Amino acid sequence: MKEKLKEQLILRAKLLEQFGVGYYFDREKKELKQSDKKQLLERLRKKIGDCKLCELHLNRTNIVFGTGDPNAKIMFVGEGPGEEEDIQGEPFVGKSGKLLTDIITKGMRISREEVYIANIVKCRPPGNRNPKPGEALTCLPFLKGQIAIVSPEVIVCLGKVAVSFLLQRPEPMNMIRGKWFDYNGIPVMATFHPSHLLRNPSAKAEVWKDIQEVMKKVGLPIPPKK
Ligand code: SF4
Repeated sequence: MKEKLKEQLILRAKLLEQFGVGYYFDREKKELKQSDKKQLLERLRKKIGDCKLCELHLNRTNIVFGTGDPNAKIMFVGEGPGEEEDIQGEPFVGKSGKLLTDIITKGMRISREEVYIANIVKCRPPGNRNPKPGEALTCLPFLKGQIAIVSPEVIVCLGKVAVSFLLQRPEPMNMIRGKWFDYNGIPVMATFHPSHLLRNPSAKAEVWKDIQEVMKKVGLPIPPKK
């Protein structure tokens, strides 16, 4: 068990080094403090700069980096910014975002500021198409850097794009939704993207089941049934 933990810490340190933020991790030789995490996220954002590594930069208004508590226990990962997110530079602020906010605030009964939210790609794919594999894989190290810094207790992958690129799972969502996976020692719950719920409101019950599993994992009380 100790060996596994050591491997995970080394992997995490290596990821941070890619962004020139490994120094703080090595120096501390322990878990990052909240203030460090905030600084490290800011440093990572600066490293991304005005990124033009893939063609998604051509149509973007803003890079949508991520938002929330750098010390969050729960991290939500979506696929990429939509129109509203591109304009505002914040993830999940459009219609899907409102639904995700409801899940967090009305369902989990915590504030949106208590979780961390990010996407597989940081720039809006034109016409809200899915990111192409080359775009997602080019951008993925930024998300991996965010995960390494925040080091949440649980990740919630929202939808097929997040699942297939972060977890490398090619199966359709209806086969893997509601299951736990592992990303570098962090438990990952796969569930539907809020945009799927907007099109299929009946799937809300399944997502609520998944979210309750996440709540149990981090020790949040499950609200009684009405
Ligand atoms: S999607 Fe990611 S890799 Fe592509 S330009 Fe934007 S920040 Fe860079």
